[in-house]
Amino acid sequence: MRTGKRLATSMALPLAVVMLTLAGCGALPGGSSDDSSAQTSTPSSTPPESAVAATAEPTAAGESDAAPSEPATSLPKGLTQKDVNAGVLSAKVKWKASGKLQTVKGSTKAPGKGQVIKVRIQVEKGLKIDGDKFADFVLATLNDRRSWTEKGTRRFARTDDAGQAFTTVTLASPQTSAELCRPLQTMGKLSCRNGDRVVLTNYRWVKAIPEYKKNREGYRQYVVNHEVGHALGHGHEYCAGKGELAPLMMQQTKGLLGCRPNPWPHP
Ligand SMILES: [Zn+2]
Repeated sequence: MRTGKRLATSMALPLAVVMLTLAGCGALPGGSSDDSSAQTSTPSSTPPESAVAATAEPTAAGESDAAPSEPATSLPKGLTQKDVNAGVLSAKVKWKASGKLQTVKGSTKAPGKGQVIKVRIQVEKGLKIDGDKFADFVLATLNDRRSWTEKGTRRFARTDDAGQAFTTVTLASPQTSAELCRPLQTMGKLSCRNGDRVVLTNYRWVKAIPEYKKNREGYRQYVVNHEVGHALGHGHEYCAGKGELAPLMMQQTKGLLGCRPNPWPHP
């Protein structure tokens, strides 16, 4: 079984973790889904377009998103500037799209010092997503000092060459994401890491989860860091107790169990 590209020996992955970590954050090893708290309604054959507007209100007064460069009126209905910064162009989530994955063209250099890890970005054709903005958001998250940069010993670059990529971060419709995560049962509502691919479902990219309240940006940072964390060899962790900060590698999408939301491995 191919388990993804290997990092340089200094960052060798614990083999046990690699073998087991076909990590869907809805399924424990052994393939049975334990996502009791995840929305487990099996998608019917042609689910209607779930026109659920993103949970948070449009940029009403008081919600201090970064001052939008364009006048607020130009924001798509139901979205904030931060949603747009993450590439989201519509609050509506279509259950399926074209099924074709498109690589975001071009490459970006890794900032700072340390070992360079190259990431490729793909977006399913037909999603209402700005691929360049999505790619920039993913790389900005991974290169944040609170992310997997390990005190400046690691940094992330973007490539559009599959041969150079350590992993491919893929944003797909609920239906295609479920297919890409198989044999895991993610129901289109959970993301996963499968081999050398990190699969993010657009269902959560747009809507996040209730426990993150209006902080959809925080949830997006969580799911990028969590799934890439699996690609780097990290397994699941658990809430240490009520009111504690949730470990990044906790399956937060399935519920925080009393812990507080946390998008970072090094908060
Ligand atoms: Zn996970």
